[in-house]
Amino acid sequence: MSWVPDAAGSSYDLDNLPYGVFSVGDTPPRVGVRIGDFVMDAPAVAALGGDPGDGPDLATAWARPSLNFFLSLGAPTWRIAREWLVEVLGHEVHQERVEPLLVPVDDATMHLPFEVADYVDFYCSLQHATNVGRIFRPDAPALPPNWRHLPIGYHGRAGTVVVSGTTVTRPSGQRLPPGSSRGAPTPEFGPTRRLDIEAELGFVVGTPSPRGEPVPTSAFAEHVFGVTPLNDWSARDLQAWEYVPLGPFLAKSFATTVSAWVTPLAALSHARVPLPGQSPPPLPHLAVEEPAGFDIALEIVLNGEVVSRPPYASMYWSPAQMLAHLTSNGASLRTGDLYASGTISGDERDQRGSLLELSWGGREPFGSGRSFLEDGDTVTLRATAPGALGGRIALGEVTGTVLPSV
Ligand code: MN
Repeated sequence: MSWVPDAAGSSYDLDNLPYGVFSVGDTPPRVGVRIGDFVMDAPAVAALGGDPGDGPDLATAWARPSLNFFLSLGAPTWRIAREWLVEVLGHEVHQERVEPLLVPVDDATMHLPFEVADYVDFYCSLQHATNVGRIFRPDAPALPPNWRHLPIGYHGRAGTVVVSGTTVTRPSGQRLPPGSSRGAPTPEFGPTRRLDIEAELGFVVGTPSPRGEPVPTSAFAEHVFGVTPLNDWSARDLQAWEYVPLGPFLAKSFATTVSAWVTPLAALSHARVPLPGQSPPPLPHLAVEEPAGFDIALEIVLNGEVVSRPPYASMYWSPAQMLAHLTSNGASLRTGDLYASGTISGDERDQRGSLLELSWGGREPFGSGRSFLEDGDTVTLRATAPGALGGRIALGEVTGTVLPSV
């Protein structure tokens, strides 16, 4: 039980403790830890002295404008830090010294929590891949022949990953006008008419790996520090025109939103669940020990209304398999690498993770007659998971508002 007012029993109790980067007024950005409705000034508390004993110098590691240095210290340090946070925030003996260093979350300015090194997006939901195949390629098999053998992915644009709350300007690009001839398509350039979202989960790499040394699935928790919900904003008309044969390019590179809070894997120990089942069994280098999945419940909120509840537990490929696949050719990992699950869609219509699927390519408007995003729309992703204390922990929310094209 935390002594922090109203933290005990909340979705930000001692079993959560996500990390972010915050500032107040003109103070420099530094690492903060969320507890209840407060941000703990992590380097200031660490500088009080008293623990973590002979361990790493956390006061220095956290007095930085990103989590990267802390992430690079590796899993043993992450464990020491978490044990120390539980001690400091869980025992009243520390209250008198630490309470003045708690900032109400509403008073804090949150920053992008880590410098994104490389960004990769996958395509791990069987239901999403099947839906997209049926919508985009109705006359072909929904799944490409490689889909059940490897987690399909592409390299995205790290420099346009933004923190929750950042506005997103409607992108322009090449698209086909409605009714364009299939035989002789004539593109035009203009603002996307099919701006969409993808509800995903992103995984943040802490420990790097050397080039030439694949990372096995068993080393997932040594390399991956934590998770964030992620919105892979997508322009479907741009995507449909550009994606053959090299995959998405400008349709997705204009913005990707992550949470201000990175939830450590350690907080998800009670959310582990078996994968829904893989047939055929993956090749040996992609084999996993179960439970390799995560029971994380997402919500897509459009202008204040919940329009979908995608279940992460339904994902076919696990994050350990994504990591093993993306390094299986010897590609190295860097601290700050971000890889995302791909759109999370469940079996039911109200579990689909994109507006493309919710409106079935725009042919079946949902809710109050919506298909794609309009200027002024606000989309928020929320996510929760079972916590170690018996309740549910919250992952940091991911929100963004659409601005008109420039
Ligand atoms: Mn995506």
